[in-house]
Amino acid sequence: MSRLGVWAGALLFAFGVVFLVSCLTPPRPPRAPRAPPQPPPDDAGTGGAGPGDPTPPVAGDPPIWVPAPPPPRPDTPTRPPHDPTRDPPTRPATPEVRVTLVSVTKSGGAAVAVAKGWRLVDADGGILDLGTSLRGELVLRGGPSLGGRALPAAGATLIPEEPGDLQVGTKRYPGVLTVIPAKGGGFRAAVIVDAETYLEGVLVGELPSSFPREAMRAQAVAARTYAWSERPASGPLEMDDTGLSDQEFGGVAAQSKHRDAVRDAVRSTHGVLVTWNGAPVRAWYHSTCGGATTAASNVFRSPAPVASAAKAAPLAGGVVCRGCAASPRFAWREKRIPGADVVRAAGLKGALEGVSVVAADGAGRATELLVRAGGKSARVSAAEFRLAVGPSVLWSTWIDRVALSGGDLVATGRGWGHGVGMCQFGAKGYADLGWTAEAILLHYYPGAALEHAW
Ligand SMILES: [Zn+2]
Repeated sequence: MSRLGVWAGALLFAFGVVFLVSCLTPPRPPRAPRAPPQPPPDDAGTGGAGPGDPTPPVAGDPPIWVPAPPPPRPDTPTRPPHDPTRDPPTRPATPEVRVTLVSVTKSGGAAVAVAKGWRLVDADGGILDLGTSLRGELVLRGGPSLGGRALPAAGATLIPEEPGDLQVGTKRYPGVLTVIPAKGGGFRAAVIVDAETYLEGVLVGELPSSFPREAMRAQAVAARTYAWSERPASGPLEMDDTGLSDQEFGGVAAQSKHRDAVRDAVRSTHGVLVTWNGAPVRAWYHSTCGGATTAASNVFRSPAPVASAAKAAPLAGGVVCRGCAASPRFAWREKRIPGADVVRAAGLKGALEGVSVVAADGAGRATELLVRAGGKSARVSAAEFRLAVGPSVLWSTWIDRVALSGGDLVATGRGWGHGVGMCQFGAKGYADLGWTAEAILLHYYPGAALEHAW
């Protein structure tokens, strides 16, 4: 294989991992394993992916947010810090995200290290201890302690003087480490970071660096909005870093061009959410729609808060997408699904006798299937059926043709993912055509607004 072919294969693989995971857990934003190292030719080009080379917006369609200014150089005058014509006069502070390190509580402890200055404060902010370096074991079982020092029952927080100078287990984290009483007894340890830092840490693992800048910015807004749409009525947004949850927080990773591109996407859209009627939309997104999006209400029917969020007008589907035709999953042929899995997914028993699409949305994506097995039949939601047989087995519910072969179901269709909201490959395609992130978001969430929440 040629060198180019190897890079192309690696790129395709990176896309595959990212987009596969993006549709594994449809009701929640995707979590992906850390993206494999990106091949250098991808970042070495002259394209406008770097933070210092912003892509100009499409004429007549200016972005509503102001890209973050580059850091001032000592020998050049700084730009005016505030432009009242474009920037709201006051914005709320960036909210905090509390990322529980569940692995810590599972194992009952972890090694904690701070290389430089630190202080340990109690729940009221009173200083318990301070020093210039720390290396010790955080123990949660049987009453919390750090480095052999018992922590108060009301909890305590370790604050490194320098951001990023906190190591828990093998990972380095921005923010502070707090130990707090857990619901149901015992203690838990969590890293507290601001929402934007958290978003950077998550997106580094989810976005391939081959994404054009405006697609990355659109993705940053969608992911921020999705996370924020799940916030509790009060208190910080709670996330788990279990390795199995919806989003994996990568902590502080080594600097790289990819990391810089993600940081640019997050910072240049700071605090921007997709809203409808003044509230954040549950901004679902997926890999490849296959030509049109579908209504969230076709896919997310339970539990109640999710079903309610799915009724927002910007999620009504039917958005024609001309951006994702280059996706390797735009169309797929003859995916074989074991008959036993099909029968089980429909809640039936016996041999599979047939499957047919009995209801579809306006574009042709199946919404209900009729499965026949063992002399009985059952109507099932196509989205639930897909999850039951495995979202990586049946790539989408846009099924053009089904047949039985040797007792198995053989399906031909298009797209990858649940088909709701922003199509990631579509966003890439439109960004390649020169669309701005704003145009991309308002295309996939029609009727929505983009607002600075902080
Ligand atoms: Zn699409």
